[in-house]
Amino acid sequence: MSAVATISQSALYHNLVVVKKHAPQAKIVAMVKANAYGHRLDLVMPLLKNADILAVSNLQEAQALRELSNKSILLLSGVYSDEELQQAIDLNCQCVVHHSSQIARISSSKQALSVWLKLDTGMHRLGLSADEHQQCYNSLKANPLINIACVMSHFACADEHNHPMNQAQLEAFNSNTNNETNRSMANSAAILSLLESHFNVVRPGIMLYGASPFTDDHFNLKPVMQLSAPVISVKTLQAGDSTGYGANWTADKPTNIAIIAIGYGDGYPRHATNGTPVLINGTLCLLVGRVSMDMIAVDIGNTKVAIGDNAILWGDEKLRVETVAHHSDTISYELLTGISNRVKFVVA
Ligand SMILES: *Cc1c(COP(=O)(O)O)cnc(C)c1O
Repeated sequence: MSAVATISQSALYHNLVVVKKHAPQAKIVAMVKANAYGHRLDLVMPLLKNADILAVSNLQEAQALRELSNKSILLLSGVYSDEELQQAIDLNCQCVVHHSSQIARISSSKQALSVWLKLDTGMHRLGLSADEHQQCYNSLKANPLINIACVMSHFACADEHNHPMNQAQLEAFNSNTNNETNRSMANSAAILSLLESHFNVVRPGIMLYGASPFTDDHFNLKPVMQLSAPVISVKTLQAGDSTGYGANWTADKPTNIAIIAIGYGDGYPRHATNGTPVLINGTLCLLVGRVSMDMIAVDIGNTKVAIGDNAILWGDEKLRVETVAHHSDTISYELLTGISNRVKFVVA
C-alpha cells in the first residue's frame, strides 16, 4: 500500500481550453519544464499534442522531451558551450538568448537556428538590457542562418493584482519591441489577469496543471494531479494523548484518528501545519501532529474510516493543492514538482 499520483488527461485538455479562451489569438507555449511540473512528461500527452511549442529548462529535459514529441522545443536556459549549441541544434531546439555572452556563440553557428531574445524588463534575473537587446537584435537579424522567432520577457509580480511592476514591465517591453517579430510575455497569472500582456504568444505553466496562481479565484481550472494514499491504521486517542514526533498536538477530548501512508518522503510537505485538510471518504478531515517521513495522522471526527480506505491529499475540487500549499507556507509549484520516486504514477 503506497501513495499514488493520478494524472487526469481530460483535466489537462480542459485547462488548455481555458488558456485558449483567455488568449484566443495567441500561440501557446506549454511550459513542461521540471518533468511537466512534476506530472511526468510521458503522462501529459494532451499538452504535448495540442500546444504549439513546448518549453523546457535545460538540454537534459529537451532530450527527454524529444523522445516523446516532434514539436518545436524552446530551450529556456539557452546554450553555454559550443557542444551545447550543437546538441540544441541536433535536438531541433529553439534557443533563448538571455545573456550577452551567448550572442557570439549563437552567431558562430554554421547551421540554421531559431532564437528567442529575452529582454530584461525589470525582473533582473535573466535577460538582455534594452541596449544589449537592440544590438543583439540588429546583429542576429543580419545573420542569414539565424531566425529571430520571438522576443520575450518575464513578469516578476504577475500574481499580484495591481502590482506597479506589472505596468512598468509592460511599458518597458512595449517600448523596446515592435510588431516586426512575435512577442511573448504572459505566464499563467498574466494570461488570467493582464489582457494587454498577451501579444501573440503566451507561456502558460501552472494553470495547465489546474492550479491557480491567485488565491481568490480558480478560473474554472481542473486539478490534474490527484495525490492519494491509503489509511493504514485507525485508533481512538484519549484526552491528553499526543501523536507524532515532538508531541506537538495533544487531544483535548477522545479523538478518532487515521494514520495515512504518506509523508515527506513522498513529497507531502513536512511544514504542513495542524489543521491542514485531508479528504477521506468525502469528508474534509484535519491533519494533527507533525508530518513524518512515511505517514501522517488525521483527526477523522465521526467519519467512518477503515484500514485500506483511500485519503486524498490534494487534487480534488474540494481540496486543491493551492490550499495545502497555503497551510504549508509554500506554493503549489513546489508541492507538484516535489513528488518523490516512491509515489506510483497512474493515468486517468
Ligand atoms: C515557468 C515559466 C513560465 C510559466 O509560469 P507559470 O507561472 O507556471 O505560468 C513562463 N515563462 C517562463 C520564462 C518560465 O520560466
